[in-house]
Amino acid sequence: MLSQAMRYSMAMVVIIGGGPAGLMAAEAAVTAGATVELYDAMPSVGRKFLLAGKGGLNLSHSEPMESFLACYGTRRALVEPAIRSFSPSALQAWARELGVETFVGTSGRIFPIDLKAAPLLRAWLRRLRNAGVQFHVRHRWCGWNERGSLLFTSPQGPQNVQAYAVVLALGGGSWPHLGSDAGWIQILAERNVSIVPLKPANCGFDVQWSEHFLTKFAGHPVKTVAGTVKTVDGIMIRRMGEFVITANGVEGGLIYMVSSAARDVITTERTATLWLDLAPDRRLRQLGQDLSRPRGKRTVATHLKRYAGIDGVKAGLLREVVSNDMPADPIRLAAAIKSLPLTLVAPRPLEEAISTAGGVSFDALDRRLMLRSFPGVFCAGEMLDWEAPTGGYLLTGCLATGRLAGRAAAEWADDHCSRRL
Ligand SMILES: Cc1cc2nc3c(=O)[nH]c(=O)nc-3n(C[C@H](O)[C@H](O)[C@H](O)COP(=O)(O)OP(=O)(O)OC[C@H]3O[C@@H](n4cnc5c(N)ncnc54)[C@H](O)[C@@H]3O)c2cc1C
Repeated sequence: MLSQAMRYSMAMVVIIGGGPAGLMAAEAAVTAGATVELYDAMPSVGRKFLLAGKGGLNLSHSEPMESFLACYGTRRALVEPAIRSFSPSALQAWARELGVETFVGTSGRIFPIDLKAAPLLRAWLRRLRNAGVQFHVRHRWCGWNERGSLLFTSPQGPQNVQAYAVVLALGGGSWPHLGSDAGWIQILAERNVSIVPLKPANCGFDVQWSEHFLTKFAGHPVKTVAGTVKTVDGIMIRRMGEFVITANGVEGGLIYMVSSAARDVITTERTATLWLDLAPDRRLRQLGQDLSRPRGKRTVATHLKRYAGIDGVKAGLLREVVSNDMPADPIRLAAAIKSLPLTLVAPRPLEEAISTAGGVSFDALDRRLMLRSFPGVFCAGEMLDWEAPTGGYLLTGCLATGRLAGRAAAEWADDHCSRRL
């Protein structure tokens, strides 16, 4: 028996989670003709999407499809069908339909012209509402009851909702105060859905800095260096970029690019080494020759600055890692500048990461992203077990899987609704 306080309703397709994946699932389902209701635990939808817009909303990447897909690593084949049917150029066309023009930056990354998420989200929500999507915020999904209805807590009390099809788009586990707190793991794990443990992705790392170094350099950016990490398979990954010295370690674009490799090395070997090239535009041999010039009365610091372009935080890093006794031999000094081994001791906690690796295992899903053990329940977005670097691959993956799941849910609902009639 349902308690009187409980509202009971029937919807064709219910979407749970109003991030980019859920909103796209709602759009795909309503476009396919379904009646759509979207539920979110937070007072408003798209909170992480809005945060992503703060640093310049990187929607996608313009590189050729093959190299784009390669960024999904070992999960490439699993996300490929979704991405091929909603490619980066389809995503640009979709944004344009919402009145948001995009541009391709020098790095090939795709951004809205104003770099912001808010105008796009506003236009998108308006279009979804006009299409008939009903939004229910402050509704936290807590699982199913014994009759198979969806259970929500809400300010109006508990709610039971029935649907022909459901899309779960509940996000990963980073930045939980924005809504994606991974509470769904317990609900699905209790029902024996296979879930790969969540891990931080695109994250910073702890480094055991000395007090002296921290006092001088915490908060300093380290500009245009290269970083190399050896993967657990022994492959060297070298990336160029920038990062910031933090109170705990290192954070920023270059670090995110090597973070999944470093995280996995730490899991097996307890620490990972990031070899920094502090002078990536100088060849080792030339650098050695330049540093071999007579130093005369100049200090080592002046000599380094004049002949290697190393000063400030880069000189501080060099001293921190090789200790204060700089190699007197210029060839060894050049080698240290080109390959400075920084020890990463732990990834920063999941809550601080840009994104999440792990999630609902693709083994638990069919090619429509429907849970094999729960017919009619689909999953999409970051809660699936894939990861990708920053560069627009995350949002593209979320939108594309949301679209695939939303369409499939509408088809499923249509099929089961007509069977009932
Ligand atoms: C600082 C930052 C910057 C970023 N910048 C970029 C970028 O520029 N480009 C890029 O590609 N990616 C970026 N990302 C990543 C991107 O924002 C995420 O990958 C994306 O938002 C995930 O989308 P999603 O829909 O799967 O999940 P989310 O956006 O996390 O949405 C999940 C939704 O589910 C709701 N929810 C969760 N549990 C429940 C429940 N039990 N009941 C009801 N509702 C629930 C949440 O409230 C939330 O609204 C960034 C992330 C961060 C943190």
